[in-house]
Amino acid sequence: MLPLLARAGEHDERPAIIDQNGTHSYRDLLFASRNVASCLLGDTHDLEEAPVAFMVPAGFEYAAVQWGIWQAGGVAVPLCVSHPSPELEYVVGDSKAQVVIAHPDFENALRPIAKARNILFHLTSDVLRSEIPSLPYLKLTRDALILYTSGTTGKPRGVVCTHHNLTAQITTLIEAWKWTPDDRILHVLPLHHTHGIVNALLCALWAGATCEILPRFDATKVWERFVHSDLTLFMAVPTIYSKLISGWEKAPEKERRKMSRACARLRLMVSGSAALPIDMFEKWEQISSHRLLERYGMTEIGMALSNPLEGERRAGFVGLPLPGVEVRLTDSSGQVLTQEHQAGEIQVRSEGVFQDYLGQPEATRQAFQDSWFRTGDEAIVENGYYRILGRSSVDIIKTGGHKVSALEIEEKFRTHPLIQECAVVGIEDEEWGERVCAAAIPGPGASLSPDELRRWGKERLAPYKNPSDWVIVTEFPRNTMGKVIKPAIRSWFQSPGSG
Ligand code: AMP
Repeated sequence: MLPLLARAGEHDERPAIIDQNGTHSYRDLLFASRNVASCLLGDTHDLEEAPVAFMVPAGFEYAAVQWGIWQAGGVAVPLCVSHPSPELEYVVGDSKAQVVIAHPDFENALRPIAKARNILFHLTSDVLRSEIPSLPYLKLTRDALILYTSGTTGKPRGVVCTHHNLTAQITTLIEAWKWTPDDRILHVLPLHHTHGIVNALLCALWAGATCEILPRFDATKVWERFVHSDLTLFMAVPTIYSKLISGWEKAPEKERRKMSRACARLRLMVSGSAALPIDMFEKWEQISSHRLLERYGMTEIGMALSNPLEGERRAGFVGLPLPGVEVRLTDSSGQVLTQEHQAGEIQVRSEGVFQDYLGQPEATRQAFQDSWFRTGDEAIVENGYYRILGRSSVDIIKTGGHKVSALEIEEKFRTHPLIQECAVVGIEDEEWGERVCAAAIPGPGASLSPDELRRWGKERLAPYKNPSDWVIVTEFPRNTMGKVIKPAIRSWFQSPGSG
């Protein structure tokens, strides 16, 4: 039996998942997932790694369907509940899903897609109701999960992980962050992405902990759960922390104290999936008494670098390699960098690293240097800790012969009292190679002009070259993980009349 499921058997009556419909034990989860497996298997004995796409809201049924697919010998392909039809069609088609499972709320979106492709379609209300079957024996080397991840260019790629990869991705975090059965995590992350699936849901279930799942992120609800639930853990992306900070700031003084006290009871709060601005790190510490633990990872590798659970959590840094993960930096010719203060590409080797990009052998080959995965992210080591400089393709700007990190410039801009958020991109330029361009969101009620910013930037940004183009905006385009979509910002600057 898969170790994740064998462990669940040991936790039996303990609460595994709490959602809108109540509390579900590990036994409930195993029972329901065997039902799903039974229904998927029909007359066959083993799905033999057939991809099964599923769209189920965050909660117990999501986990039951995921585990049901695995127990039947299938590969889980979670669909994003907020994606429009063309994206869903793409993922179902590209993953070559042979079965689609949908919650009744999503029947209208998915039944036609399954019909057009002539593949089996099930509703969760059907698959969660049948007999317990005999299940196939599963080796850990089997494919388990296909997650779609958007690169900076082109269509999203299917990242294939085996059960062995997932087990390694889970166990490193269990060890580093000391998960125990007494933990209780509040889960607010999307469940078609590694952060929500591995770090929050599967780590909790591996540990025998309790996962309290909200159907979607809502700042008021999260504060309410912080105050009223016995939580020990919380994990989120910086955008979520920013919304929680706004929620706290809007609350009356007396409420604020209660909210802050509630936060301080948790044992760990984690941030990742995008750079955590230093001012946000500091503000959150004032509010919650937590120094956020920032970590770095990727769909292809799980988590690789993390600030320590015990020891110094340094703002603006992502710490050190996690247990069982090897990390190195290389220069543009692939030479390994051995000294601190040299910027280079992060390369990772571990049992958690994925198998391949589905159906893209050439892209898979190019993603590795020997047995090391090339992340496409640049970093530097300073006093022992890694600091992320950004994605080579969008955040490393080559201007006037210098390489500058967009993330560093953004960090400078956030020290401006009237700027709430900032995104910096490089735009092709004959004279400079690339021009540094910045878009900024003013703080509430603040008024800013591009000219003022240009003046302000002139002094402070001299080491990074002056941003030459500006735009003041009310919001950035973001993906479902809250990451700023920089190619879209680039096109603002490339369109006439910007700045
Ligand atoms: P995804 O595969 O969607 O999880 O995205 C992974 C990418 O997010 C990485 O390649 C990084 O560019 C970025 N990322 C993840 N964690 C961090 C972090 N702590 N700081 C900066 N960027 C991060």
